[in-house]
Amino acid sequence: MTRKERFDFIIKYFQEHNPNAETELLYSNPYELLVAVILSAQCTDKRVNMTTPELFRRFPDMPSLARADKDEVLVYIKSISYPNNKAKHLVGMAQKVMSDFGGNIPMTVAELITLPGVGRKTANVITSVVDAQPNMAVDTHVFRVAARIGLTVNAKTPLATELQLLKFIPKDLVYIAHHWLILHGRYVCVARNPKCDICGLKPACKYYQQHLKNTTIADNAL
Ligand code: SF4
Repeated sequence: MTRKERFDFIIKYFQEHNPNAETELLYSNPYELLVAVILSAQCTDKRVNMTTPELFRRFPDMPSLARADKDEVLVYIKSISYPNNKAKHLVGMAQKVMSDFGGNIPMTVAELITLPGVGRKTANVITSVVDAQPNMAVDTHVFRVAARIGLTVNAKTPLATELQLLKFIPKDLVYIAHHWLILHGRYVCVARNPKCDICGLKPACKYYQQHLKNTTIADNAL
């Protein structure tokens, strides 16, 4: 199977089986999404979702977060990984949005990554989810799943993965393809012991085909 055929297969599969894939982070506006994505670095969406309702009640918008004391923000997010850094980043991000962007979250990756706590992955998530821009956010799940299936080849960094995926995924599907790969990595193609037996991508998966071949060779050697 060529790489193009693998892409065609998985796109068709997910269009049929998960046509409405979306982020599992809970949010009701771009401000809440940005805060939630910053908090989700190295942390599960589930834990972030347990934390944000109270945080958003106390700091409902960008101006209130920009005026916040970092130590007070810390109280609300202390069960999240790296709470000190994240509290500092959240307040710094809000202050910069207020001072440099008139209180409006910028919608380009280049501007977003100037905000404290916002890297390329977060900027790609925000611009693709809020604005349906064809930007592919690569997290640990996307990185692993794309490599296993064979959608990427020798991609050593998230940026290399991003660029390879963008070459093959039609522009209008990039924003949803990100969610397809994340959710697949979270629930099926998990890091240890991927659940190949229940996976619908087997016919197009390089890892699975390799695994089958190795098993057959081992069986024949018996
Ligand atoms: S067949 Fe296995 S390795 Fe391949 S995508 Fe599915 S779960 Fe992952």
